[in-house]
Amino acid sequence: MKKTQASLILISLLIAQSLFAQDDSDLHDPEQQRVAPFQVFDNLYYIGAEWVSSWLLVTDQGLIVFDAMYEGLTDLAIEGIRELGFDPDDVRYLIVSHAHYDHIGGALKFQQEFAAVTMMTEEDWAMTEQPPVFREYPKPIRHLSASDGATLNLGRTRLRFMKTPGHTPGVLSTIFTVYDNGYPHTAMLFGGDGINFTGVDRLQMYIDSVQRMQQLPDVEVHVSNHPMSGEIFERRDMLAQRQDGDPHPFVDPESWDAHLELRLRQAQQQLAQEQAASN
Ligand SMILES: [Zn+2]
Repeated sequence: MKKTQASLILISLLIAQSLFAQDDSDLHDPEQQRVAPFQVFDNLYYIGAEWVSSWLLVTDQGLIVFDAMYEGLTDLAIEGIRELGFDPDDVRYLIVSHAHYDHIGGALKFQQEFAAVTMMTEEDWAMTEQPPVFREYPKPIRHLSASDGATLNLGRTRLRFMKTPGHTPGVLSTIFTVYDNGYPHTAMLFGGDGINFTGVDRLQMYIDSVQRMQQLPDVEVHVSNHPMSGEIFERRDMLAQRQDGDPHPFVDPESWDAHLELRLRQAQQQLAQEQAASN
């Protein structure tokens, strides 16, 4: 079971990589990328696109958005908030997982149009001072820096931050509680999951981050910031078919563990190759 899952993830990654290599215009086209927004838990909604996620967390004191996406995809997220019956003016915080265009590109828009207080790590705020890595984006105004172990409260909702560097120097991951018909589950958004970088130091950072996450005792829900790495749409379809008494398809601690294990092995393998090549 786990082996099959792991190889499926690997195949998906290979497909994604070949898509990137050929032509990425579909990625940036909002009409190709449109996904009908949907509810996942009592307090969590998907407002993202086909290839990159954006999430809406609803609290008793306003809204929290995880990741702004970019360009026309940001507009999809904002439309999604309205379609779900919420008001984007109520977005109090925008939590940005890392300073790559696909997560931070729309941050300035959330700041200017909805006065969303934006949170990222110090390391990734510093990245916004540098030339962008993959694609240009409007530079957001530097707001708050999240440090490892910090918390953020909004009403009765609490976010716990964890710095999980590797993918970028200051990847921000977040742990929070989601509710399934009132029943609480611990969710984690791993802010920088992809191993699309090289360098022994960065790989070692990534490995340390994954191993720290593996020590967390009770994560049950993987809130992935790219749908493919969390099988978001497969789970959405299962959720739509869910019968009374069925388990919630997003509550899947085994696949979270398997995912971390897979990433750990991939990073260790790449590290070994790079070390061998430099000797
Ligand atoms: Zn990235």
